[in-house]
Amino acid sequence: MTNEKPDWIRLQKALAIEAEHGFTDLLGKQYRFSEFLSLTFGKFPIVLAATERRRWHELAAQFANYPNLGLEDRQHLVAETRRYLYQLQQEEGEQGSRGVEEQEIVYKSKIRLEKFATGGNPPYNFSQNPKSKIIAEVSRRLAPKIDQKLSDLPEIGIRKADNLARLGLYTVRDLLFYYPRDYIDYARQVNIRELQGGETVTIVATVKRCNCFTSPKNKKLSILELILKDNTGQIKIGRFYAGARFSSRAWQESLKRRYPVGSIVAACGLVKESKYGLTLDNPELEVLANPGDTIESLNIGRIVPIYTLTEGIVANMVRQAVIAVLPAASHLKDPLPSGLRQKYDLMELKDAIANIHFPNDSASLQVARRRLVFDEFFYLQLGLLQRQQQARAIQTSAILAPKGQLLEKFHEILPFQLTGAQQRVINDILNDLQKPVPMNRLVQGDVGSGKTVVAVLAILAAIQSGYQAALMAPTEVLAEQHYRKLVSWFNLLHLPVELLTGSTKTSKRRQIHAQLGTGELPLLVGTHALIQDPVNFHQLGLVVIDEQHRFGVEQRARLQQKGEQPHVLTMTATPIPRTLALTIHGDLDVSQIDELPPGRQKIQTTVLSGQERTHAYDLIRREIVQGRQVYVILPLVEESEKLDLRSAVDEHQKLQESIFPDFQVGLLHGRMSSVEKDDAITKFRDNQTQILVSTTVVEVGVDVPNATVMLIENAERFGLSQLHQLRGRVGRGAAQSYCLLMSSSRSPDAQQRLKVLEQSQDGFFISEMDMRFRGPGQVLGTRQSGVPDFTLASLVEDEEVLLLARQAAEKVIEIDATLERWYLMKEELKYRYERLMGGAILT
Ligand code: ADP
Ligand code: MG
Repeated sequence: MTNEKPDWIRLQKALAIEAEHGFTDLLGKQYRFSEFLSLTFGKFPIVLAATERRRWHELAAQFANYPNLGLEDRQHLVAETRRYLYQLQQEEGEQGSRGVEEQEIVYKSKIRLEKFATGGNPPYNFSQNPKSKIIAEVSRRLAPKIDQKLSDLPEIGIRKADNLARLGLYTVRDLLFYYPRDYIDYARQVNIRELQGGETVTIVATVKRCNCFTSPKNKKLSILELILKDNTGQIKIGRFYAGARFSSRAWQESLKRRYPVGSIVAACGLVKESKYGLTLDNPELEVLANPGDTIESLNIGRIVPIYTLTEGIVANMVRQAVIAVLPAASHLKDPLPSGLRQKYDLMELKDAIANIHFPNDSASLQVARRRLVFDEFFYLQLGLLQRQQQARAIQTSAILAPKGQLLEKFHEILPFQLTGAQQRVINDILNDLQKPVPMNRLVQGDVGSGKTVVAVLAILAAIQSGYQAALMAPTEVLAEQHYRKLVSWFNLLHLPVELLTGSTKTSKRRQIHAQLGTGELPLLVGTHALIQDPVNFHQLGLVVIDEQHRFGVEQRARLQQKGEQPHVLTMTATPIPRTLALTIHGDLDVSQIDELPPGRQKIQTTVLSGQERTHAYDLIRREIVQGRQVYVILPLVEESEKLDLRSAVDEHQKLQESIFPDFQVGLLHGRMSSVEKDDAITKFRDNQTQILVSTTVVEVGVDVPNATVMLIENAERFGLSQLHQLRGRVGRGAAQSYCLLMSSSRSPDAQQRLKVLEQSQDGFFISEMDMRFRGPGQVLGTRQSGVPDFTLASLVEDEEVLLLARQAAEKVIEIDATLERWYLMKEELKYRYERLMGGAILT
């Protein structure tokens, strides 16, 4: 940022996005939010009046200290800063005067209000309460402008606006797009006696008893327990609050005070049968009246929105504020052209916004939701496709021949026939390589589907054409594995290949660097040491990245910069569901190897409880006696690496000393040096150890065809896709293999989840189930999820809408990728895409 005019919009956006993400001090490409703000305020723009100088210095200091602030102080600082900037901006006269436009708005809003007062297709329905205060207020009101500050609206005022700012809500627009998190449906109100399992209902009843305590099983879980009573009976309900934040005594007390005995509450949720009779499953709760009040039955008989609240902000306050700004919705211009809306049967934006807040009935809520979900998907796809389009505009000089001697020779030395799927994917790749546009293709294929051969053919195409290639793997173990395999093939082809990892000796490293520079070395295999600086290729034409989701975007970009726009092939053995693939890889071309080489046996998979452990040990003994080998895998205990280590070390000791003293048991875990790891793997590979006890380091890499048993302890702690990956370590030879999933968890959910693996060996199906059970973020693992935060959209529930949105976005990009002809859409894309991509703006 220069000393010139500040970029108000960008600053405001950064603040808005930080607020939307819950004041987490977002990490951008280059800076954290706090750094960005501190830097910005650190340079006083000369165009501003000198009187502001002190304030800028203060703000710079305050944002430098932002990471040390608690939530409330962060909220406060962000809200204050937004207000201050807004004021400066207005003083600068950037805001046009209102005059004429305002009159028009008043006129329009009257028409609309009249329309719904007479019942003509009302966007929301207050007719149950014709005399309600709210209705009277709404009809008197002028529609506020979309960008107006909430504190400017008389119905909200400065004090409430302050509170709303703590939710990140600052302008009318913010509030209109602050969708409810759920609804209480008073249309489904029933008496306690009439409750039946499986229905979603609302009850309105008096609090007879209220208690809040820490779960005896989990210190970080608070349980709120209420006994509710109406004329027909009583019911006990519970609500759970997980997280350290909710486990303090003080917090529990404050929660209890919200539901005093004698108050009237509405509870809405799914009726569930439990050990103690019927109850509501973690219901939405809302106090309608405190003891002694007369009930203000404003809400009864409608679908009432529930908003995410924060301390000091009560439900009705947000609702009233939304009602105050809703008239502005009717002035929202819909960025989607009407033709597109018609084609995909989408509600108009202004109606969707009105109905998402105060739906007429559940049908209009569904229609409104569908439209807004469509938008969330649509703009993301639009952004991704635009990015893809831009990438395609880049030229590469590396045009690679799809056939030639090397490729032919390789086909000759291959001891097997390629599967149909392999052939198809290779064709996709060779096709890409002949074009002057850098390839950006992702190959998905289950463990053992034969991705390596596919990669080698692409590499040979590059070498054939006089270019170099690089193959990058996420761990040393895996890099080594690739290297071994490649050496054996490359020897037959009389081609050199080298390995470069963190543990490569300096002299060797120098030699490799030199050979790369001259071009003598056509292929380099390695870990991310490959992208460290002094590595310079003579002419890099192709980069292959294995297990790509383990590499950050930035690392990938750095490798790409090593050549002049080399082709990039990424490979992953973690098949992901289609919806997730479109969301995170929507800008890549994707090929799937959806067929395993012939002759693979099914891996017999069994879920075992703790009592069945002896079965497991019997099987292991039997297999080892027949010359086979065994993996025993322990889960990572996330909180403590030390604990991990201990569990692996302890288990190793137990197996070696008490259970299998007559066999050799090896140990492999993440805390070992790479020399020790190598040693453990080599011993296992050479069958010097028959059992390998390991944490999940083996997930990628170890290839020992003689291993036939995979025993996984505490299997319920793993995701299904991860279990499937682990299972893929056996069944690599001709012999029947086994996967034993040990789990003492009695939770029906855990049992059901594990059963999926007993039934299926299809990675795509398994990942789909994994996503259903645990959510999209988890499927990719916790380390790097990259799944955007959708507000309404669900990758599990909304597949149909996603596919339509993708199709619509493709069509739009095809007609005009610049979006020049759809100005509003272009603006909206900018706004949304930056939001979805979180800190992208902080650069
Ligand atoms: P992954 O997709 O898990 O990386 P690999 O490329 O390591 O799989 O292949 C697994 C094993 O299958 C290797 O031993 C490989 O040589 C073998 N293989 C690959 N393709 C075929 C094929 N078409 N027919 C038979 N075996 C194959
Ligand atoms: Mg592989």
